[in-house]
Amino acid sequence: MTAISTPIPDTVAEPDTATEVDAAALAQPPCLVSFDVETYFQVENANGIVDKAQWDRMDPRLDAVTDRLLALLDEHRSSATFFTLGWVARKLPQIVRRIHAAGHEIACHGDMHDRLHRLGPDGFRKDLANAKKTLEDLVGSPVRGYRAPVFSIDRTTSWAIDILAEAGFSYDSSIQPIRRRAYGVPDAPDTPFRIVGPGGSQLIELPLLTWNVLGYRMPVAGGGYFRLLPLRLMLNGIAQMNRRGLPAATYFHPWEFDPDQPRLPINGVKRFRHYVGLKKTTPRLAALLDRHRSTAFAAWLQTQKTQTWPAFAL
Ligand SMILES: [Zn+2]
Repeated sequence: MTAISTPIPDTVAEPDTATEVDAAALAQPPCLVSFDVETYFQVENANGIVDKAQWDRMDPRLDAVTDRLLALLDEHRSSATFFTLGWVARKLPQIVRRIHAAGHEIACHGDMHDRLHRLGPDGFRKDLANAKKTLEDLVGSPVRGYRAPVFSIDRTTSWAIDILAEAGFSYDSSIQPIRRRAYGVPDAPDTPFRIVGPGGSQLIELPLLTWNVLGYRMPVAGGGYFRLLPLRLMLNGIAQMNRRGLPAATYFHPWEFDPDQPRLPINGVKRFRHYVGLKKTTPRLAALLDRHRSTAFAAWLQTQKTQTWPAFAL
């Protein structure tokens, strides 16, 4: 992240007219905006602080913020993919119905937000089945897309690809093509590809956006990076991907748009990472959608000849 020597301004010039925005939006690939629908107390940083047994007694604070996000997407004539926890769908079915009724894609973020390393293959199979059934019963149609909690599909959990295919998923968006302590597949393609599991199953993979600077893949797809770093970095990553004729896969969480959420006793770097920039997110997402109209992942995939994409064995 130190590869950049010149400061990059956080402000971006407003387009002159709505027509200019429309013309630009039509000329370039859409942005693939996604939300991982979980509550502030289900994040990995709260693991060990808020026990799963307490979840049902706490206020998930998802109703109002989800409605605000739906309104923002509607204002920008954009649709998005909502990777939703099975737990959220059982606790707050009305939210999932509202997202679906507004024309967005409901996809799966697992059931209880466990990292795949913790679940193991058998635990993952069960968690996935619970979540998929809960979501499909609510929306009345198949759920095809998956994102692992904490991007936890990597070389050590490659069995997940075969299990996802066996469960009827057609695409995944869990791969961060970077190296991080807790996640990442640094040698994975940074553009959409076909991911092959150890059992030979294939899925479509939409890796999260990185911005390639002098050979370094800077993670600019969303989350803490979106809140901490200037928006310009994400816009640069999107522009670079668009120059390759491809859309950028981005991710956000509803709790990131809720600055008044109760503070949990998270310490140190983790505390900083969870709470930094919560007040900036709504105007930033609006600025992003002003420039890049968003489409749901599955809708974009339907327009693509995915059979011709490169294969990558995990
Ligand atoms: Zn998550």
